[in-house]
Amino acid sequence: MNDKTFKLDIVAPDRVVYKGRVRSFSAPGELGTFQVLVNHAPLLSSLVVGEVKFTDEDGNIEYFATSGGFVEVRDNRVRALLDAAERADEIDVDRAQESRNRALERIKSRASDTNMARAKRSLERANNRLKVAQRTKETAAA
Ligand code: ATP
Repeated sequence: MNDKTFKLDIVAPDRVVYKGRVRSFSAPGELGTFQVLVNHAPLLSSLVVGEVKFTDEDGNIEYFATSGGFVEVRDNRVRALLDAAERADEIDVDRAQESRNRALERIKSRASDTNMARAKRSLERANNRLKVAQRTKETAAA
């Protein structure tokens, strides 16, 4: 049987999030979401806030929220260095909701000491976490 898998390492500042073989990987690149399958051409991309997804060797699909980072693809190996990465079922929904409310208050207040760009980025991270937290475990077709 042809091996359709490749190596994936996902690293966050505080931990190794995942290390193993996968069938597919996708991430939110600066220019849009991209997908990597076996024998993908070399690639280097920075990431934006969004969803990282992969299908492992057994067909289990995993979803992570990320706040950005870098991905390198080379020789059937993907390395993702992420600023933050939380698996869908690890996301603290109350925390994300509170973060979202804080950001919305700041944006609404229009106070002169509010850093609008920072508040908007925080809102974007919180919204992304709330969205990814709704992902449930799925299994890909064989
Ligand atoms: P908050 O306003 O709640 O601090 P933030 O977007 O400012 O959110 P980050 O700076 O992106 O937080 O993340 C700091 C650390 O906390 C990272 O390790 C990140 O994975 C983790 N983290 C942040 N929010 C959550 C969450 N809702 N659930 C689980 N982990 C989280």
